[in-house]
Amino acid sequence: MVQGSRKSRTLRRAHRRTPGGKTVLCFKRRNPNSAKCSRCGAKLSGIPRKIPLKFKNIPKTKRNPARPYGGNLCSKCTRQVLIEKARSEEE
Ligand SMILES: [Zn+2]
Repeated sequence: MVQGSRKSRTLRRAHRRTPGGKTVLCFKRRNPNSAKCSRCGAKLSGIPRKIPLKFKNIPKTKRNPARPYGGNLCSKCTRQVLIEKARSEEE
């Protein structure tokens, strides 16, 4: 009988070939959804979506854009926020 948790699609199915030549079914965690801009909700590009375990294998420079609000705001919103900030500081 199949284990109950194996029947749901919570886990991703991956066919893996064993050293003995058999193909077996492996169950893997799914990648999370793409990151969203916290201001407008647009998809953020340049951020790989991996489970936390795999994320630590990625170089730090490739995890997030290296600019202020990188990984939080999209480039358009970042520009607007920085301009708003600069204007409020002038006064
Ligand atoms: Zn945005």
